Amino acid sequence: MNRSDSRRVLVVAATTGYQLRSFGSAAERLGLRLAFATDRCHQLDDPWRDGALPIRFHDESEAVDTIVAARPPVHGIVAVGDRPAIVAAGAARALGLPGHPPEAVRAAAHKQRTRERLRAAGLPGPAFRAVPVGADKAALLDGAAFPCVIKPMALSASRGVIRADTADELLAAAARLRRLLRMPDVRAQRDPANDTMLIEAFVPGREVAVEGVVTGGALEVFAIFDKPDPLDGPFFEETIYATPDTLPPEVRRSVIVQVARAVGALGLTDGPVHAEARIDGETVVVLEVAPRPIGGRCARVLRFVPPAHSGAGRDGAAVATLEEVLLRHALGDAIDGWRVSDEASAVMMIPVPGAGICREVTGVDAARAVPGIEEVIVTAKPGERLIPWPEGASYPGFIFARGSDRNDVVEAARAAHARLRFDVAPELAVRPAE
Ligand code: ADP
Ligand code: CA
Repeated sequence: MNRSDSRRVLVVAATTGYQLRSFGSAAERLGLRLAFATDRCHQLDDPWRDGALPIRFHDESEAVDTIVAARPPVHGIVAVGDRPAIVAAGAARALGLPGHPPEAVRAAAHKQRTRERLRAAGLPGPAFRAVPVGADKAALLDGAAFPCVIKPMALSASRGVIRADTADELLAAAARLRRLLRMPDVRAQRDPANDTMLIEAFVPGREVAVEGVVTGGALEVFAIFDKPDPLDGPFFEETIYATPDTLPPEVRRSVIVQVARAVGALGLTDGPVHAEARIDGETVVVLEVAPRPIGGRCARVLRFVPPAHSGAGRDGAAVATLEEVLLRHALGDAIDGWRVSDEASAVMMIPVPGAGICREVTGVDAARAVPGIEEVIVTAKPGERLIPWPEGASYPGFIFARGSDRNDVVEAARAAHARLRFDVAPELAVRPAE
């Protein structure tokens, strides 16, 4: 570790949340400086005293121009969030810094373009068709096959993704997705992609997530996560991610090969990736490759061990965070010796216990007392509205478990969750009229 490192990394962010603070502490540990480009300048208490560049994310090219015009003295760029990833890619290209090409980030963020690119590259994938948000019954059912999944083109966190097993279910799901796409917070994104919905065949099988980075087009996988709870719908909120995976070795190899092909098909070349794949019998189907790291708080499920020769760890930092590794990577430093620790580790994204106002969460200490539990974080605040999937997209908290046995950490997370009690005042569902 080089504490006199004077290099600086630009963080492009649309949030002041946890992930931003994680990059802040990572930079501190590495002795690096950060600069910010964000639409939250007024909220940023700027703990690094570097000044922040105000940008707006709904006009991506203007945001890129603003960054480039400021000629920030930076040596690398990272993004926090989906929209920031597109802006960061544009800025990296213009400033000659490492990063995924902007058009690849755009393709990866657009579900139909992703499908088209993967199909063109010969990867297996579900049959799909796009329909306008206003499609009538005949258009929705034209060529429909079941089970299928209807989803928005450009939202994330499984928001708006709905399975349908019959024509009636598909019509109801389409109406529900249409209402979601007309909600103010979605409209505020001003993304024309959300004028269209994607309908695709349901891909059965267990699901895994793959976390890694791409360097000069080559994928390096940090971890494969099992998702031990089945994700069969009708909605797809995540629950548990557990690593190491329990895939048979040949399936693991095939997951890595297919994700690497998908990365190539999308044209992602330099930066973090988080992919999802299903194992449908003998076939590994890559569902998507997001050009960003695993979201927010979940990143702490990964703990990195530095290379033996690096000297890192001399001051007690025997392990590093994903954000530290990503900052190094953004600067173009070699990270090939860094690997995820062999311990078993799991994170549970706590399911939304019901629609309503969160009054109180109890049992947190009891949950923390479960052997193997590293941390229980309740992010839902008293008085906060909890919105279940598919309209919702945020978890009321996270449970982290760590230990020597993969199944034990999963069971610890489940046991801790069973000790939590959410007191939720139900409210009548208020939906905008069609
Ligand atoms: P997002 O970008 O919002 O995460 P995805 O397209 O990745 O949206 O879908 C979210 C989740 O929904 C997936 O992780 C998977 O569990 C499920 N899903 C999406 N599409 C399909 C499909 N065609 N077949 C089966 N499950 C799917
Ligand atoms: Ca996804």
